[in-house]
Amino acid sequence: MTQTTTSPTVREIRLVEAHAAHNYHPLPVVIARGEGAWVLDVEGRRHLDMLAGYSALNFGHRHPRLVAALEAQLGRLTLTSRAFHNDVLGTFAAELADLCGMDAILPMNTGAEAVETAIKLARKWGAETRGVAPDRSRIVVMGGNFHGRTTTIVGFSDDPSAREGFGPFTPGFVRMPFGDIVALEAAVDQDTVAVLLEPIQGEGGVIIPPDGYLAGVRRLCTERGVLMLADEIQAGLGRTGHTFACDHDGVVPDVYILGKALGGGILPVSAIVASWDLMGVFTPGVHGSTFGGNPLACAVGLEVVRMLAEGEPQRRAADLGADLAARLAALPKDKVSAVRSRGLWAGIDIIGRSGRSVCEGLLRRGVLAKDTHGTTIRLAPPLVIERADLHWAMDQLEAELAEG
Ligand SMILES: *Cc1c(COP(=O)(O)O)cnc(C)c1O
Repeated sequence: MTQTTTSPTVREIRLVEAHAAHNYHPLPVVIARGEGAWVLDVEGRRHLDMLAGYSALNFGHRHPRLVAALEAQLGRLTLTSRAFHNDVLGTFAAELADLCGMDAILPMNTGAEAVETAIKLARKWGAETRGVAPDRSRIVVMGGNFHGRTTTIVGFSDDPSAREGFGPFTPGFVRMPFGDIVALEAAVDQDTVAVLLEPIQGEGGVIIPPDGYLAGVRRLCTERGVLMLADEIQAGLGRTGHTFACDHDGVVPDVYILGKALGGGILPVSAIVASWDLMGVFTPGVHGSTFGGNPLACAVGLEVVRMLAEGEPQRRAADLGADLAARLAALPKDKVSAVRSRGLWAGIDIIGRSGRSVCEGLLRRGVLAKDTHGTTIRLAPPLVIERADLHWAMDQLEAELAEG
């Protein structure tokens, strides 16, 4: 008699499918441990993580400095609410603002909350400083944007799967093609309070705007007295080889919107960072979050900021990014229609098969990656990845493309 045994992988997938909403379509791997750039699944197989939690794991899994910061704080104090002070927020705020060359932060938890906070800042600033009538206030956003999942944010997305069925939507947004400075100039009028953009569109497929575009946006915003809000949630904090993706173009926005890696892959930590001229619109009672600025989040975020202030993650991303770019350029032209990369971040457009099938093939070869928009594969390994491991991952991609 044959005994049927259910593998731990199948058991977990069945449980999730039976009891968790199907709002994701994960690859069939169940991860049980992680260290650095590597994870171990429940069958004991090792995989190289080439997604890094969409940049939330820029410093890898369980970075010793981040785990130590978490554990030290965990033994002391975890949550106070902002009804009282805690003894970590001030240092975190000071050092994060300093890293950004700005005055002040407003801490939140998720990326979407930070984006919402930046939208609220821009609208209130527009009303109070520019005298824009609240019912006329407008923010320009970009085609192909991804800023999160709240009803306001999906309302200005042009991705049908993100928005359809969730209306009615918040008014006050106008969408322009990403990378088109002429269209943007035409869109900014006397009721425009801000331009909101990702300096590189991550979810969109690592879309890099033309040279000079970000500088052009900066110039236009300054000339017209409009705020430039840079969503650096996925692009920032070392990913591109710079602290911020805007740095590559020598551009400083009015507001940095940060998340993902700010929590070190441990906790959701987000923030906006700006000058006091702008942050001053937030007075007591105007905005808040129960968990925003909690000491546990601040302790981890502070260690992230210190690692970035030392500069090693950015140097690694730039250095290894050169290897990645060279390997991308050598991918076969009959299998790949376009490659884009900056630092340790790449989008690869596949010809003739779905991104999903390539990622399933990579999974069988021990590499974790994720498709986006059907035929694009996004690579975003932890910045702590070893050079030999990066090359091994690219060997696997080459082999997989050759087979398909
Ligand atoms: C992930 C992401 C968000 C949303 O962050 P959440 O923490 O998932 O809410 C916003 N903007 C960009 C550019 C992102 O990549």
